[in-house]
Amino acid sequence: LLSSLSSYSAEATLQTDEQIQLALINLDHGDPTMYQSYWKQVGDKTTVVISGWQSVSYFSDTKNLCWFLEPRFSNAATRLHNLVGNAETANQHLVVGTGSTQLFQAVLYALCPSDAPEPMSIVSAAPFYSSYPLITDCLKSGLYKWSGDASDFDKNEPYIELVTSPNNPDGSIREPVVNGSRGILVHDLAYYWPQYTPISSAADHDIMLFTLSKCTGHAGLRLGWALVKDEAIARKMVKYIEISSIGVSKDSQLRAAKILDVIADTYEQPEPSNESKRFFDYGYDEMAKRWRQLREAVRKGKTFSLPDLPVGTCNFANRTFGTQPAFAWLKCEKSIDDCESFLKKHKILTRGGMYFGSSKKYVRISLIGHEEEYNEFIRRLSLINSVESP
Ligand code: PMP
Repeated sequence: LLSSLSSYSAEATLQTDEQIQLALINLDHGDPTMYQSYWKQVGDKTTVVISGWQSVSYFSDTKNLCWFLEPRFSNAATRLHNLVGNAETANQHLVVGTGSTQLFQAVLYALCPSDAPEPMSIVSAAPFYSSYPLITDCLKSGLYKWSGDASDFDKNEPYIELVTSPNNPDGSIREPVVNGSRGILVHDLAYYWPQYTPISSAADHDIMLFTLSKCTGHAGLRLGWALVKDEAIARKMVKYIEISSIGVSKDSQLRAAKILDVIADTYEQPEPSNESKRFFDYGYDEMAKRWRQLREAVRKGKTFSLPDLPVGTCNFANRTFGTQPAFAWLKCEKSIDDCESFLKKHKILTRGGMYFGSSKKYVRISLIGHEEEYNEFIRRLSLINSVESP
C-alpha cells in the first residue's frame, strides 16, 4: 500500500517526465490533490494562525445543540450554501463531523432504534460508494447491517436508503429507488457542487451530508457537515460524535471557515483579472478539460466506453453543461472481463466494479489527482486504445 500511495503523494509533482512515464499511476483513491495548485496560487489569503492558547477547551458553543460546532465554521458553510444555492439552510440543524465518514456513522446510530428485534437494513443503488458496506459492517453492529443494492430490496421492513447524487462512482443524478413506505432517506451530496454538476435547485432533504474533501479539495482537514431537519435526529448524531471522538477538531473548523469565506468573498467582489480565477470557475474549467481529454482518448478506439451523463442548467454559474464527475466509470469492452487487472498490466491502478456492487467490466478512475499523473494516464489510455483496437 505504501509504495502505491507514494506514487500519488505530493512528491509526484517533483518527478521528472521520464520518472512519471515509468511509474505506476494510482487513480484508485479519490484524493483531491488537483486542487493543491489552485490553493498555492491563492497564497496567504487562506492562512490561519492558531496560537498555543487557542483551541484548548473541548467546547465551542454551549448554547448550540451541536456544542462542538465553531460558530465561524457554521456561518461560513451556511454562507457558501446560500451563495451557490445547492442546499436549503433555513430550518436545518448543522452538525459538524470528522469528515462526512464520521457523519455517516452518526446518522446510522441516530436512525436505528436500539431496541429493534433485528438490525436495520442499509441499502444504496448499485453501483454504490465502495465505503458504505465497509463502514456499515465494520463493527458488526447489532443496530444495522449492509443489505446491498437498493434496487433488489423488497422486504417489508424498516430500511435506510443512501442516495448519492451525483453518484460515486458513476456520476449519475439520483433519486431514491426503493419502492417502500418504511424507509428513511439519507442524501450524500458530497459532489453537489458547481465544478461537477449543474446546480439546478437548492436540495431540501431531511438529512444531507457534505464534505470539504470534494468541495474545496481539503480532504486532509477531515471535515464534513450534515444538514438535518429533525432536532431529535440531530441531537442523536451529536451524541454519537460526543461518544466516539468528543467533538471535532476546532483547528480544522477554523481553517475550513477561512477557506470557505475566501471562496465566498471572491464571488461577492467584482470578477478578478484573468490570472486569478474564482474557485468554482477554476474547478469547472479543470474538470471540463480532464473530461474532454478522457472522452477523446476513449473515442480513439473500441476498447473502452463511458456512460452518458445528463446535461442541465446551472443556476449558480448561469450555463448549461453535462455533469463532469470527480470519477469516471470506465467500461472495458470486447473480451476484457476484468478491467482492473487489464489496466494494472499497463501500470494504471483503478478500483474494480465489484467494490461498488457491480461488474468487473467496470473500473472507477479518479479525475481529481495531480495534473502530471493525469496527463500520463491519458497518454497511456490513448496508446492502449489505439494498439488494442486496430
Ligand atoms: N461520501 C462520498 C460519496 C464520497 O465520495 C466520500 C469521499 N470519497 C465521502 C462520503 C467521504 O468524505 P470524507 O473525506 O469527508 O470522509
